[in-house]
Amino acid sequence: MAYTYDPQNIFARILRGEIPNKTVVETAHTLVFHDIHPHAPVHVLAIPKGAYVNFDHFAAEASAEEIVDFHRTVAQVIVDLGLSGEAGYRGITNAGKAGLQEVPHYHMHILGGRVLGRLVD
Ligand code: ADP
Repeated sequence: MAYTYDPQNIFARILRGEIPNKTVVETAHTLVFHDIHPHAPVHVLAIPKGAYVNFDHFAAEASAEEIVDFHRTVAQVIVDLGLSGEAGYRGITNAGKAGLQEVPHYHMHILGGRVLGRLVD
């Protein structure tokens, strides 16, 4: 699969420091920041620093180091924000038209802090 990445997307601009963000944590390969329009008391976005359009692009082409860094960072944030264990959370990634993806840079939404609705539609 050939993936086309738009370097002008808003998360690419955040990664270049052109747009401010409320950072939760930043590592060598990953940035986690607060969503600008939160859908829950906790709503953060985790993105790899590399130029990947969606989950399947990232999972297929990122290095093992990037993939491990991303997931370990997300796991630590889940613990640090008090979502681990009984509290719970939801991780979502939207891709393409069917997924209603708005920003074409791979991101995982992490939501928590309230009981979330069931996934429907
Ligand atoms: P959707 O908007 O359907 O959830 P995405 O899965 O592509 O589509 O999610 C993009 C997310 O990015 C949205 O939750 C939106 O609120 C968030 N967002 C857009 N611009 C910014 C920004 N500058 N800083 C933080 N979050 C942003």
